[in-house]
Amino acid sequence: MSQPTTVLACQNLSKIYDQGDLRVEVLKNIEFNVVAGEMVAVVGSSGSGKSTLLNLLGGLDTPTSGTVLLGEQDIYQLNDNARGRLRNSNMGFVYQFHHLLAEFDALENVCMPLWIGEMDKTMAEEKARAMLDKVGLAQRIKHKPAELSGGERQRVAIARALVTEPKVVLMDEPTGNLDKHSARGIHDLMASLNASLATSFVVVTHDEQFAQQLSRVVVLEDGQLKESQLA
Ligand code: ADP
Ligand code: MG
Repeated sequence: MSQPTTVLACQNLSKIYDQGDLRVEVLKNIEFNVVAGEMVAVVGSSGSGKSTLLNLLGGLDTPTSGTVLLGEQDIYQLNDNARGRLRNSNMGFVYQFHHLLAEFDALENVCMPLWIGEMDKTMAEEKARAMLDKVGLAQRIKHKPAELSGGERQRVAIARALVTEPKVVLMDEPTGNLDKHSARGIHDLMASLNASLATSFVVVTHDEQFAQQLSRVVVLEDGQLKESQLA
């Protein structure tokens, strides 16, 4: 059998916050590898650095040292524009707080990464509608974020992250605002994309039940990442 393809990796990744006398070493030489089709849960207590790690993997922050590789590309060697383009076409990101654009409706928010990728307007709308349907929001496409519940906003954000069919999707507490039924729906959607497109997922979660449904669980503790035996 051939070696599985690594889609996202970090090597020797460190992050230190320096605030005067206060020096917080959040991540210490993290090594992490995600192969095609893998679904990894990242767990750890509050303040252990899960969001910091995810943001670094997503090209949203700057490491103190170390590299992040998306495919073959060291993303922090790129300038901001080039990194943005690479993210837009290869990566989906679901923030802990949805980060939807307030002045745009659900459909437009989901269309956004496709428009940025210069997809034809009609085709973008078709894809965005289909994805909103999959997350159970077919009846809400004309609603703006302020007119949606917390869980609905989170589902729009998830649809936006998935609509480009990226190789890898990073999610920070995606089910934090969702009831059990909606969380189940999100898991099923992830599993179906994973099965049809071999999409990889890295999911920060507090939800143990959710974590156990993924193929691998890693724990962030004392700035180090360890494989969990629980999975
Ligand atoms: P988690 O997502 O696991 O709850 P975070 O990654 O948000 O943890 O934070 C990890 C640690 O880094 C916390 O101690 C937090 O206070 C600190 N931290 C996060 N962002 C900053 C920042 N911009 N400046 C200083 N310290 C920060
Ligand atoms: Mg966090």
